[in-house]
Amino acid sequence: MYDIIDAHVHTYPTSAIGLQATGGMNMSGCTGTVQELLALMSVGGIDKAAMMNMTPVADMREAALAAGKGPPDDIARQMIERMKRRNDWTCQTAREQPSLVPFISLDPSMGPEDAVAEVHRCRQQGAVGIKLHPSSQRFNPDDPNLWPVYAEAESLEMPVLSHGGFFPADPEASEFSRPRAFARILEAFPKLRFVLAHMGQGYIDESLAMAGRFANLHFDSSTVITGTVYPPSISDEEAVALVRRFGAERILFASDWPWFHPLRDLERIETLALSDSERRLILGENARRVMGI
Ligand SMILES: [Zn+2]
Repeated sequence: MYDIIDAHVHTYPTSAIGLQATGGMNMSGCTGTVQELLALMSVGGIDKAAMMNMTPVADMREAALAAGKGPPDDIARQMIERMKRRNDWTCQTAREQPSLVPFISLDPSMGPEDAVAEVHRCRQQGAVGIKLHPSSQRFNPDDPNLWPVYAEAESLEMPVLSHGGFFPADPEASEFSRPRAFARILEAFPKLRFVLAHMGQGYIDESLAMAGRFANLHFDSSTVITGTVYPPSISDEEAVALVRRFGAERILFASDWPWFHPLRDLERIETLALSDSERRLILGENARRVMGI
């Protein structure tokens, strides 16, 4: 027996909000509520799930501007307030359900002082890590406004998980999340606990090259090995070979629920021809170590 941790899920306060956020793309058949997630975790014996809750600040800001909802500065401020309320909700949810691990959202448009203040504010509420989505939020991850956040995360041993690689909703914005976009950060902060989601999907070779350069770079398995539609696009043999090219100690099991289905994902990892120790690392030990949970 070993711990099972799903390193990347999303949760929403209501079914309606979850359905809107996933835009009907939720292949799991779930809408993203905490109750649905807890029920799946109990069936699958999943001990913990890390909530990568984020707020699409750029999209909301542009929609509000286009609708003429007020002066740009006011709108920008309002969107950051909404992001902070969502961070509050995520931390609150995790306090009520200790099997859920809260990651908070930040945006460089906050400015460096406010971003660091938000890290501290949320940490007091129990936040474990930081989730970034450079493609959805349309920012460069090495934006100078985020530099103090990485420094703080490194010294607090707070993990950072970012969307990695291709972004289907806005392919041009994939550039912001491709593996090499994080190189300067990983170089400057060699102890930062960093997870690139989706193994940098669409740029796997770049991810592998980066993994060779940076010992603190980890990956989550979703959309490549797990967190996929079934049957997955790579065979079991290819999946095992890929795990071994990265090293099993670098890969965190993740479903990206409610987009995909953690129980089917668990089944996939169970059926791959991995050694017991590789499976243990992927399913839980890596997340425990990297996320400090
Ligand atoms: Zn996700």
